[in-house]
Amino acid sequence: MEIVCLDLEGVLVPEIWINFAKKTGIKELEATTRDIPDYDVLMTQRLNILKEHNLGIHDIQEVIAEMGPFEGAKEFVEWVRTHFQLIILSDTFYEFAHPLMKQLGWPTIFCHKLEVNDQGMITDYKLRQADPKRQSVKALHTLNYKIIAAGDSYNDTTMLGEADHGFLFDAPDNVIAEFPQFPALNGYEALKQAIRSVSARDIPN
Ligand SMILES: [Mg+2]
Repeated sequence: MEIVCLDLEGVLVPEIWINFAKKTGIKELEATTRDIPDYDVLMTQRLNILKEHNLGIHDIQEVIAEMGPFEGAKEFVEWVRTHFQLIILSDTFYEFAHPLMKQLGWPTIFCHKLEVNDQGMITDYKLRQADPKRQSVKALHTLNYKIIAAGDSYNDTTMLGEADHGFLFDAPDNVIAEFPQFPALNGYEALKQAIRSVSARDIPN
């Protein structure tokens, strides 16, 4: 049996923080791990900025809902789920992913969790575990599944390495150059054909 594991941001939906910053016009929220490599420092800064702007989880979810998935993502997810089991492995938080998962037809997702108080303000965040994407693939292997995985960035490479077949999808040039062991593809049609080509079964187009 085969499971397809897909990254979320950059593969099925836009980068959530970057687009949230653009849509709200809050410049300070554009910082990423490239600017602040310590993830805890970065997240604490982000949560403080949200608090300063008095943005609660419901305001944030409204903005995220407007982003929507990429064009063709919903159809691609439907194709994968018709022929395989699909699990989305993401470093986002359930509360942020929720409006986008609705638009993708509620696929299974493993990610992290926010803590929200009674007023709807985010008070903290909880990472499920370290190196969660790789650990998820490892765990699925113990259940005797073969894993076909795709992602677009650094935080996907341990997942791609652990998987039986790993693909870079719409990845930036620097990631493609650093990880030549993973075939680099662009667009859902190419990914669909790549998944079909490595599947042990004869998958219809
Ligand atoms: Mg990504």
